[in-house]
Amino acid sequence: MKKIEACPLCGNNDFVSVRKAPYYRGKQEIFNIDSCTSCGFWFTNPQPEGAGLAAYYESEDYVSHTDGTGSLLDIVYNWVRNYALNKKLSIVESAVRNKNTLLDYGAGTGAFLARAKEKSWSVTGVEPSEVARKNAKLKGVDLLSVENRNVVKDGSCSAISLWHVLEHLPDLKESMLYFNAKLERDGVLFVAVPNHQSYDAEYYRDQWAALDVPLHLWHFSKTDIANLALATGFSLEKVYNMPFDSYYVSLLSEKIRASSMGPLKAMYRGFVSNLKGGNTKNMSSLIYQLRKS
Ligand SMILES: [Zn+2]
Repeated sequence: MKKIEACPLCGNNDFVSVRKAPYYRGKQEIFNIDSCTSCGFWFTNPQPEGAGLAAYYESEDYVSHTDGTGSLLDIVYNWVRNYALNKKLSIVESAVRNKNTLLDYGAGTGAFLARAKEKSWSVTGVEPSEVARKNAKLKGVDLLSVENRNVVKDGSCSAISLWHVLEHLPDLKESMLYFNAKLERDGVLFVAVPNHQSYDAEYYRDQWAALDVPLHLWHFSKTDIANLALATGFSLEKVYNMPFDSYYVSLLSEKIRASSMGPLKAMYRGFVSNLKGGNTKNMSSLIYQLRKS
């Protein structure tokens, strides 16, 4: 386990514990989340690393590496994902100035890139899981391993996307600098991450599924993303709500609580969260549009 001694955003070394959350995908374990007393950034602390961290991804529950098995949650997940693919692509296309190369980092089974390819993008992707890379190949999408990520040339991408990926990357600032280097001038980085200031996050507290410890190493607010962007050569241009994530995360959270009538309660919480977060751009998950500055 790696103990974080200095805040990855501001360098301060004074933290306060804000959550004690369960690992819900396998054997019950509790992980601590600290908040920096200076800038307010939340991070899992301590964090598993290397093979220890990789072992937490081997759970059968980790649907992002496969295309699901057919449970109700998998069906909802896949349905939402399909809807979201089109929305994400339209967000990307409305922001970029050149439609050249799209890099999807943490591409999973390649669904987003396959859709982008249909829309005439030249696509490239990076994905650590070999199983996921093989699944992507079946869709006609070739993905690079993390070790080979520098095959992508500096300044060659008009857009880079990270759909629920940044919160998983151990080297936060280094990764952001890598994305900055790979983007062309005026290129755009799209980052989707959970928002711990949403209503559903406050409501479910330690059992909020999007804390997803220890797979999620970092837990972002809008302020954190703005700070991170500034420190790594980006400007935060726009924030989008992801309304379906509120329902999906509430469903998982009710599952962690082992609630009776969980799906019904989840629908209600998701609805309330979206109502409260709609105008203020404060839903369960947000997409950030960051332009290389
Ligand atoms: Zn800090």
